[in-house]
Amino acid sequence: MNINIDYSKCNSSDCLECLDICPMQVFDFKNNKLIVVDEEACCGCLACQEVCSYNAISLIY
Ligand code: SF4
Ligand code: SF4
Repeated sequence: MNINIDYSKCNSSDCLECLDICPMQVFDFKNNKLIVVDEEACCGCLACQEVCSYNAISLIY
């Protein structure tokens, strides 16, 4: 799984819905930026992609 965050679309300072919904703690928020910390843990549930109202996350198998 490749998790791509489009930072031109992500509004993480006001959002973090993907971080909250992810059951595998794949994301973290550091230095005012959403980051992927554990891509290997991703189970492919697509919840982050579906919850993002800014279409900023793409998952590539
Ligand atoms: S849900 Fe979308 S806009 Fe919100 S922090 Fe995640 S990637 Fe960014
Ligand atoms: S697909 Fe599911 S497990 Fe993977 S990063 Fe998104 S919410 Fe987390």
